[in-house]
Parts: sequence; C-alpha cells; structure tokens
Amino acid sequence: MFAATSDGIVVTDLQGCIVEVNPAYCALTGYSREALLGQNPRLLKSNRHDAEFYRRMWQALLQEGRWQGEIWNRRRNGELFVRWLTIDQVRDERGSPTHYVGVLSQLCAARRKDADVERTLHVDPLTGLPNGLLLRDRLRQAMVLGRRSGHKVALLHLDLDGFRPINERYGHPFGDRLLVAVAERLRTGLRATDTAARAGGDEFLFLLPEAGAASDAGLVARKLLDLLAEPFRIEAGREVRLSASIGIVLHPDDAEDVDELLAHAEAAMQRAKGAGRNRYHFYSRSLQARASQEMEIEAELRRALEQEEFLLYYQPQVDARRGQLTGVEALVRWNHPRQGILPPGRFIKIAEDTGLIAPLGEWVLRTACRQARRWRDQGLPPFRLAVNLAAVQFDDLRLVDRVAGWLIESGVDPRQFEVEITEGSAMRSPERTVERLMELKAIGVRVAIDDFGTGYSSLGYLRRFPVDTLKVDRTFLRNVPDDEENATLCAAVISLARTLGMSVIAEGVETAAQVEFLRERECDELQGFLFGRPMPPDELARTARTRTTLLPDGLPPARSRTPARQRRGSMPPRATPARTTPPGVSSRRKER
Ligand code: C2E
Ligand code: MG
Ligand code: MG
Repeated sequence: MFAATSDGIVVTDLQGCIVEVNPAYCALTGYSREALLGQNPRLLKSNRHDAEFYRRMWQALLQEGRWQGEIWNRRRNGELFVRWLTIDQVRDERGSPTHYVGVLSQLCAARRKDADVERTLHVDPLTGLPNGLLLRDRLRQAMVLGRRSGHKVALLHLDLDGFRPINERYGHPFGDRLLVAVAERLRTGLRATDTAARAGGDEFLFLLPEAGAASDAGLVARKLLDLLAEPFRIEAGREVRLSASIGIVLHPDDAEDVDELLAHAEAAMQRAKGAGRNRYHFYSRSLQARASQEMEIEAELRRALEQEEFLLYYQPQVDARRGQLTGVEALVRWNHPRQGILPPGRFIKIAEDTGLIAPLGEWVLRTACRQARRWRDQGLPPFRLAVNLAAVQFDDLRLVDRVAGWLIESGVDPRQFEVEITEGSAMRSPERTVERLMELKAIGVRVAIDDFGTGYSSLGYLRRFPVDTLKVDRTFLRNVPDDEENATLCAAVISLARTLGMSVIAEGVETAAQVEFLRERECDELQGFLFGRPMPPDELARTARTRTTLLPDGLPPARSRTPARQRRGSMPPRATPARTTPPGVSSRRKER
C-alpha cells in the first residue's frame, strides 16, 4: 500500500530527519529517495508560509500528535505545488512517540480551483513560460540558496532586436506565433535547473541559479544568441531572421536585491543594444573586459581555422613488454603566427566554449585519416591511430556518418582507428553515450575512454559502454611506484579494466620504474615521453621505420611470465584487437 498509493508519504524521526519516502512522494517532489533520506522536509519549503505557520504546525504536533492543513511546497525544479498535508505521530507499544508520518494528498475540487488560479497568476498565457512574477519569486529563492552555498546567481535580460517592425509589418497574430517559437527555442538553451520567463512584449528573462562563474553566464548568452540566429519559418514562404541583445548581472557581485538585479540587467541589455545589437553585455566592467578578451581569441581562432594554422602531432603508444609501436595518438597544435606552436591547453577550452571545436574537430578527423593513408602509402607497418573527440562532437548526431566518410575517403581500416572520449564527457549523459558508442562500434572503429579516473563513472554504465580501451589518466602515474596512493589507484584501474575485458593504456609514462610497475600489473600498452613526445608526422614515420622498439636504452624487454601468472598466453604484437576474456569473467563483452 505504501508503494502503490498515489499520495506522497514521508516518514521522519522525531528530529524531522527523513527516514523513508514512498515513490509517489519522490514523483511529487522531483527528488530521488536517496536525495531525500537524511534531509529535513524543510527542503521543500516554498517561502509562501510565514514562521507563524510553521510554529503552529509544531505546536499542534507536540500537543495533539497531529496536524493537517493546506501546504505549498517547492519541487526540485523550482515549481510550486499545493497539497493537503496530514502529519501524525507514530508511537511504539509503550506509547512513546518514535516517528512522524506525513501524507500529501490531492486537494478537494473546490481547493483545486484556487490552485489553478494560482497557476494562471504565474504563467505567461501566450508562451506558457513562467511570467515575471514567478521569476522574481525564484530569483529571491535562488539568492537565498546562493548565499548559503556560495554559488553565484546570474540573471539575463534578453530583448529581441527589431521585433516591433516585424509585428507591425506582418500583423500581431504572426508576431504572437513568432514569440511562441522564440520561447520554445530559447528554452532549449537552458539546463533543467534554469528558468526562462517572459517579461512581457519581446523581452525574456533567464535565471541561472548556479552559475559557476561569470563565463558560464556568458556561455549561456552566446548559446541563446546562436539559437536565435537560425531563421524562423512560421509560415510557408516567409522566413524571419532575429537577433537579440542580452544584459547579464550576477548576484552577489552586481546587486543585493531583486529589484536592483532586474534594473541592472536591463541597463546592461541597453548597453548591448547601444554597442550594435546581437551581443551580450555584462553589467560589471571587469567582466565585460574579460568577455571582450575571449571574443578576441575567438576571432583569432576563426581566422586560424580559415588559414589552416593547425597542425597534428603524433605520440607513440607501445606494447608494454617489448616496446613495439602499436599505435599513435593525434594531438592538435596551433601554429600561431606570433606566438609559435601552442599546445591544446591554450585554446581547446575556448574552442569548446565558442562552438569552434566542431569545425576544428572535423579538421582533426579529416587530417588524421589522410595522414594514416599517407603513412600506408609510404609503406610503413600498420599501427592504430587514435583521435580525441570533444564532448560536442560526440553529441553531434552525424558524427558516425562523418567518421565513416573520412575513413572511406582515405581507405583507412576502421579496426585501426580509435576515438578517445574523456570519461567526463562519456558520463554527462550515459544513455546517449551507450547509443553513440554502439553506432561507432557498428562501423568497426575502436573506442577508448580517455583520462580515466578523473571523472565520476558509474560502474553500471562503464560495463554497458562498448569500450575497447581504458586510458589511465597520467595524474595517477605521478611518482609511481613511490607514491603509494597513486600506485594503489593505478593498479585498481588496471584490474578494473581487465575485469571488464578492456585493454589498458597508461598515459604519461616518464620513468623506467613506472614501466616496471605497469608491467608487473599487466598493463597492456604505454604512452609517454619515455617512448616519444608528440611529434610531426615525418618524424613519426622515421621512428616507425627505423626502430623496432621504443624502449629507451638500458630498459630491456620484459621477461616472459611464469606460467602461473600467464593469463593470456604469449602476447602477440597488438596489431589486431582480438583478446581473450580473463578467467572468471562472463563473456558478456564478447557477445557484442
Ligand atoms: P590527452 O588526450 O590526455 O593527451 C595526452 C596529453 O598528455 C598530451 O598533451 C601529451 O603531450 C601529454 N603527455 C604525453 N606523454 C606525457 C608524459 O610522459 N608526461 C607528460 N607530462 N605529459 C605527457 P597535449 O598534446 O598538450 O594535449 C592535451 C589535451 O588536449 C589532450 O589530452 C586532449 O584532451 C586535448 N586534445 C589534444 N588534441 C585534441 C584534439 O584534436 N581534439 C580534442 N578535442 N582535444 C584534443
Ligand atoms: Mg587523448
Ligand atoms: Mg588523456
């Protein structure tokens, strides 16, 4: 009954700590059971009841063991909802109170009508978005939470450029439909915890309750502008182009209270309009300066793409025992006209933030494939080629088609081609990752999880990802084996990968002692400065042609293992990805 009822039920101890909830309670509040256990139901407080309300509730509970009444609560996503709440004290055999149980049930019909009225008070009837009133309420709430948690709260004021002439020219019904379409599009630019509201006319407000930093708000603003840039087709044969001006304020930096924040956001929006429209402007001068600087780098990156100022370097990956070249990882460089060769750390993040990573990533894929072809034409022995994918590329629905296209164009064997995605981007939306990886596997390419150990993987998902290789992040190799903690973690990751039937590459190998440690733990492959830095393609070709092992002088190949430890028989050079499953592991992975 507890599980099946549609009334939300919550059990707390006498201190008000939640000890159990039923599924209906989770559905109603939007929190998972795990998130609620140990919390106080105060978590749901809507701020619509005053202190006196709660004082009376407690008085009734303490004196009569029961309270009931109508209560407004707040869901996890910020929505308000109203329910009839009955709280009863639970007593043990001896009659001493042990728990409280609260039941949230639907209001009777008459009451529900009030709630509907309440809803219309908070929603813009045209677009269905929250209205300014509700936004103010959420803004106030976000400021309170932000103060407690140290998060910044960002407020964006967006005003469409040139909406009025469109409205006048095509008529109000058309203008209304355009606004609905705009609202729908803008809403897709936000995270679930953000709020988009219509402030009236052609103005919208956006509340980001957990803006990590100012740049976060800038990113969202940029995204909103990009979303609007696509033409709107409201009626057949009539295409409308829109842009907008956006003002950004941050709490607590720019203002202390709701009215001031709203006013400053509008002022900043006016400045964006004044500066030429289709842009965003921060209220604070220093943030604006930083935003301009990023825009400058962005412009430089755009130019660099056009002028083909990027290069690919290739770093060897070797088999752990003999040091034979098994593969290479393509790593991008920017050959900057004034600053020389820049490592990706200097520009990848900005490229990601500005969306330029998409064309850059495509360039990398195409160039790497062509290079593989060139090496083959030069008669080099085959080795695997790995390419890094950024999260946005991974989100791109056409990724697989593109990869397949470049492989076919260059005649590269997909089994010798590997894509690396970081653990962080794989775990952002694991269900989608599973799907995307399946697609990649279907065309025969290999998949590696990069920087493994730096994200937060769920083992459940990791098992479901059709992944060939785990790359142990190089931070885990630091001072191994002397650093015991790192050594333990490193060994654990290797054995995890084995259990899941994946092969392991250790990144950032710099010393012979690390090699010994990794061999001992049966790590399959190694990558690091000890065997070669990332190098231009010709140098890589020379290396591949002239050296049978990349082990440095003085580091002999590993002795073959004693039979007791020998788990996979003698190890062939890893030209083919085939591997047997370690004993004690189900053949789940092989079934794929
Ligand atoms: P990553 O994919 O984990 O690449 C390995 C990085 O470790 C490379 O840095 C490499 O130079 C460095 N490394 C290799 N061996 C050693 C070593 O023994 N010691 C030390 N200290 N470092 C070593 P790099 O080339 O600066 O690349 C940094 C990151 O930039 C890459 O990390 C990757 O996340 C990203 N990146 C590089 N190229 C691309 C690309 O084409 N597309 C995307 N999306 N990201 C890329
Ligand atoms: Mg990588
Ligand atoms: Mg890495």
